[in-house]
Amino acid sequence: MAMTMLHRNAIDKAGARSGIMGGLMPDPDRCPMATPDACPCGSGLPLAACCGLYHRGAPAPTPEALMRSRYSAFALGLTDYLLESWAAETRPASLPADDGTRWVRLEILDHGESGDEGRVHFRATFREGRRWGVLEERSRFRREAGRWVYVDGEPQVHRLKPGRNAPCPCGSGRKGKACCVTG
Ligand SMILES: [Zn+2]
Ligand SMILES: [Zn+2]
Repeated sequence: MAMTMLHRNAIDKAGARSGIMGGLMPDPDRCPMATPDACPCGSGLPLAACCGLYHRGAPAPTPEALMRSRYSAFALGLTDYLLESWAAETRPASLPADDGTRWVRLEILDHGESGDEGRVHFRATFREGRRWGVLEERSRFRREAGRWVYVDGEPQVHRLKPGRNAPCPCGSGRKGKACCVTG
């Protein structure tokens, strides 16, 4: 299932619908995650030297690298890449190019591989307008003909209520009000 669809469903089920969707990007002058050429996965590398390599066709060497590149693809709206790197039996028919979700932070909590099976436990922070959330998932991956693909996962979504004086959820180390927490 798609990250985007999953958390949307979870939030809707929680009865937290809101008309405010998207449109509030981090301020590029203040938020390091919004630096134009920085890889969205948070590696600190330029996109072209990080997940961009895999988006352009190089095989991701590990499940973690594939996971990071898929996160970046969600952040950048690269739906073709997401579908190509998805196991055929769990792949959705299509994905929306932009559903209003802004992915602001990826944290890899654990990862490993054994033969052609891989796993990554991650946490991804997102915002939709003024609403924030965290998707945590233990994903399964499989290597097919030398390429890792995403199989499925056990996602959990939590709402986040970032404080204006608390550390910004984007991970910049700044106070929220001096970074992405504009609401
Ligand atoms: Zn990256
Ligand atoms: Zn921030």
